[in-house]
Amino acid sequence: MKIWANSGDSHLVEPDDLFTTSLPAELAERMPRSVKDPDGSHETLYIDGQEFRRQMPKAANLKDEHGLTVVERAPGANDMKLRLIDLDQEGIWAELVYPSIGIWMGSIQDPKLLAAGCAAINDWAFEYQRFDPRYVCTATIPLLDAEHAVPEIHRVADMGYKAAYFSVTPGLGARDWHYTDDWEPVWSAIEETGLVIAFHIGTEAHDATTMHGAYYRGPGGALINYMETTYGGQRAITKMIASGVFDRHPGIKAMVSEGGATWGPFVADRLDEAYRQHWSMVKPQLRRLPSEYLYENVYASFQHDRSAVKAMTTMGWQNICWGSDYPHIEGTFGHTQKTLHELFDDVDEASMRRMTVGTFEELFPHVPPAPANGTEVPGER
Ligand code: MN
Repeated sequence: MKIWANSGDSHLVEPDDLFTTSLPAELAERMPRSVKDPDGSHETLYIDGQEFRRQMPKAANLKDEHGLTVVERAPGANDMKLRLIDLDQEGIWAELVYPSIGIWMGSIQDPKLLAAGCAAINDWAFEYQRFDPRYVCTATIPLLDAEHAVPEIHRVADMGYKAAYFSVTPGLGARDWHYTDDWEPVWSAIEETGLVIAFHIGTEAHDATTMHGAYYRGPGGALINYMETTYGGQRAITKMIASGVFDRHPGIKAMVSEGGATWGPFVADRLDEAYRQHWSMVKPQLRRLPSEYLYENVYASFQHDRSAVKAMTTMGWQNICWGSDYPHIEGTFGHTQKTLHELFDDVDEASMRRMTVGTFEELFPHVPPAPANGTEVPGER
């Protein structure tokens, strides 16, 4: 039986000419740009005078176990019409959609350049959401300072965006999320607009000396670095809870995409223990236990993690949803139905429904309901 699921983690692939067609040349040439080696093994990213040389990771040239590149295996990766065919085939209904090149924006250190680049991405990405409400696009927010972030938050909310993509750390050189003096206007704007904060793991801001995502070299590097990309989401949420963001702004909802889910109950327990046992050192004091914010204000998406299901069914965290990570190689494209059945066939109906569609619908109530499970293809478009 076909299972339909919303995805809490998907990606758009920006066209190569996005910035050259939308920005003045002197700005466009400083925006992130990827140049692949002829043999496809490495790429060089040029970002505002910095050069990042790296082995090809999730980008277009990476090949899956059948030797297919992202666009070969997922023809809808950069086409809003073809993408729906891919989604229908896989049984994916609505998607929370992140940028791809936009994830590099955190490495831009000029606030005006960053703001212009984010606005260009946001004007382009919103065409997807305008085309079909199954696309819930995340607006890329310039996060070097509140002065540039707040106007873009209001602008994209007025456009109709429902979610704001936040890197797990602010832009390069900015103070981190727990510095209330720096970020309070941003939290206020988020609460006021009702945008969901969408953190995607692995999005720490890096300069050319601390290559994006590649902290370790040597034996086991690929696995070690994959784990390293996971922790940033947990750190961001910890900083928000500990500095009282949810205490002052109980309306904020923050999603952490692609990072599994069992970390939620773990972080909740650790924070409660610290809050109780180290209370005399805890500043600011919070109105409620840290775990209450985690369980109520924080959400998480996972793709293959067997343990994530138990974070709901055994540990009781209700704010969990599945995510496809379409069209990335670590996602479920090509085997989504197999994955969904493996994850949910032995799970009670209510929990399965919440993880496949309900959690997502709670965050984004404007999205039309998913087809009933067992329906092969949704109604004609
Ligand atoms: Mn992802």
